[in-house]
Amino acid sequence: MTQDAAITLTSAAAGNGPLALEAVGLTKDFRLGHGATLHAVRDVNISLYKSAVVALVGESGSGKSTVARMLAGQERPTAGVMRLDGEPVDVRTSRAFRLYKSQVQYVFQDPFGSLNPVHSVGYHLTRPIKLHQGRDVDVKKRVIELLEQVRLTPAAQFEPKYPHELSGGQRQRVSFARALAAEPNVLLADEPVSMLDVSIRLEMLNLLDDLRKRLHLALLYITHDIASARYFADEVLVMYGGQIVERGPAEEVTQQPAHPYTQLLIASAPDPDNLGSVLKSGNSVPRARGAGSGPAAVGCPFSNRCPLAIDKCRAENPALHQLTAVRAAACWRLSEAAPALVNGTA
Ligand code: ADP
Ligand code: MG
Repeated sequence: MTQDAAITLTSAAAGNGPLALEAVGLTKDFRLGHGATLHAVRDVNISLYKSAVVALVGESGSGKSTVARMLAGQERPTAGVMRLDGEPVDVRTSRAFRLYKSQVQYVFQDPFGSLNPVHSVGYHLTRPIKLHQGRDVDVKKRVIELLEQVRLTPAAQFEPKYPHELSGGQRQRVSFARALAAEPNVLLADEPVSMLDVSIRLEMLNLLDDLRKRLHLALLYITHDIASARYFADEVLVMYGGQIVERGPAEEVTQQPAHPYTQLLIASAPDPDNLGSVLKSGNSVPRARGAGSGPAAVGCPFSNRCPLAIDKCRAENPALHQLTAVRAAACWRLSEAAPALVNGTA
């Protein structure tokens, strides 16, 4: 059985552009009170290439934001290595952290909490421009340029507005513009549309996709909605209980999922071929058997919800098993869950 390793498994996002940010063996344990440890993220490998989109998909509590916060330099990994443009990531001093942030930006899901109510749109953009760019930059001109990039036009009308004068979608556009002010190469978008009205989600995803193409961003798109991941990601990483349980090209993983959890996600999406309906349905995370009980602490994290689970699944946690050059899944029951893939007849 081949263990997941960046060495053997090629990212489906490779080939679009150069590798920007890479994490190998990313792990985060949280110490809780009474001496208990929560394994929030275990041994996650992620490669973000310029101009490519990697989707990190999983239900609430699966560890997605913890991965993003580590990649953003905000949370220190318990174990693992991160490299930006081939160099080890160093965010130990505030100067190093600022330099890192000029390359790697994090956009939060909440367009309401992320802007300061007492500051104008222009002010929100002016600060990062001054912080990350040289003194000679024409700040006023750059603010207008950023607003136009996120299609808040006419830009001059939006610049003096305050957050309470904007819709949720407009606020999220300001958040995108603020992230872009630093001219980053990597954008970590943490459930960027999940708190927005369903009617504007597709438009916001299109904007994100357009920015990614025009600015050659390496984009990590975090979502609980696998249908939206299929819509514009190159590679999908499915996360459950802190670990990657399946990964591969977005189209393949969504058309022919290998892991029982991914299969459950796809089956519960109302109509995988009709993204509009999926986005309108809001949350596509299923209420499967045992849902709400949380991942199993021993063995495969999905074993207490999995219809195929056997004793081995409840005892031993499976490593990622490589299925093709670009696909892998962590499951002891792959021969039953995805026989065509395992036998190479897919
Ligand atoms: P997601 O973004 O997928 O919803 P998170 O990364 O926010 O998941 O959380 C993963 C797990 O780690 C959850 O069980 C959460 O309660 C826990 N967690 C996150 N941050 C902390 C923290 N600072 N201290 C303790 N536990 C945390
Ligand atoms: Mg989260």
